[in-house]
Amino acid sequence: MFQEMLQTGHPRDWHDMLSASITTAGEIAKHLPVDPSHIRNVISRYPMRINPYYLSLIKSSKSKEGGLFKQVVPDIQEISNDNLVSDPLYEEIQSPVPNLIHRYPNRILFMVSNHCPVYCRFCMRKRKVGNPFAVTQKTINDGIAYIKQNRSIHEVIVSGGDPLLLEDEELNSIMDQLRSVKHIEIIRIHTRVPCALPQRITPALAKMLSRHHPVFMNIHFNHPDEITTESSTACAILADAGIPLGSQTVLLKGINNDPAIIKKLMLGLLKIRVKPYYLHHPDPVRGTRHFRTPIKEGLDILKKLRGHTSGLCVPSYMIDLPEGGGKVPLLPEYKKDFLENSLTIENYQGKVFDYPED
Ligand SMILES: *Cc1c(COP(=O)(O)O)cnc(C)c1O
Repeated sequence: MFQEMLQTGHPRDWHDMLSASITTAGEIAKHLPVDPSHIRNVISRYPMRINPYYLSLIKSSKSKEGGLFKQVVPDIQEISNDNLVSDPLYEEIQSPVPNLIHRYPNRILFMVSNHCPVYCRFCMRKRKVGNPFAVTQKTINDGIAYIKQNRSIHEVIVSGGDPLLLEDEELNSIMDQLRSVKHIEIIRIHTRVPCALPQRITPALAKMLSRHHPVFMNIHFNHPDEITTESSTACAILADAGIPLGSQTVLLKGINNDPAIIKKLMLGLLKIRVKPYYLHHPDPVRGTRHFRTPIKEGLDILKKLRGHTSGLCVPSYMIDLPEGGGKVPLLPEYKKDFLENSLTIENYQGKVFDYPED
């Protein structure tokens, strides 16, 4: 059995890594400067998980209370009354069967796992992490039955929780079932694992995923200190398996709301073959208000990227509209004036040009 595991190149380490995670106030106080009573109050509502790998990144990070610390260490502000609702995007209302969101006509988001490699304090699905939602064989079967019946669905976004915390065999079975549906063209995986638990990305996993191509993957990275030897190796294994990698980053106050940090992150991602896809404006979700920043700040950051750095590094800056209206890109204003047959426009350096329309 052990020999077999070695031969399939599937070490069990990531399971051990995950089960050694910090989940209590007592444990975290041994490692990081926190107030245990605050931690206890917050985690009775929103649980904590910091795996040993991510903890080591926090400890080696230059500023102890900086960009990595705030992402995963509970803050008392999470439980102050912030007048926000838990599901502003109407995800539950737009779920025809549990754990499947059908917002756009041709693609759906399918939650197949209720675990994550770390619990992000700014999570837009905090309501579910607090009340662990049931992902069962039944919800997965019901989701697949719904996908089969709806021929307008051409793409499935496999999400969660984190789908890469399933065992290889469990995920393979879901992928097989999706691939057996004729109208499904694209499978996309949304995950934080290559960033927050890179040990889970094994050659065996990559090989399994590559049997279901075309498979795309969007990885959640928020800070340049998350780009390490380990996460770079994880991305290389996936890219070498022919999986196009994109990134999703959330703009977060006190973590990355700074043009220099975002620029460094986007460039770093490009170097590990991850194409910046979306920079998300944070959603108005209960318990996360202290992470929100003005939209103007996001627009200014975008303006400092476009033209100043490779176009490959520039993500789309997105807001997700309330009530399930969907995502819309926001762009800095370059257009100064739109007269009858000429457009007055500013370039990335702030120089003004007239552009003839005909
Ligand atoms: C973000 C999202 C998608 C995917 O949107 P893209 O713009 O295609 O990346 C699909 N469904 C739901 C519910 C979403 O939140």
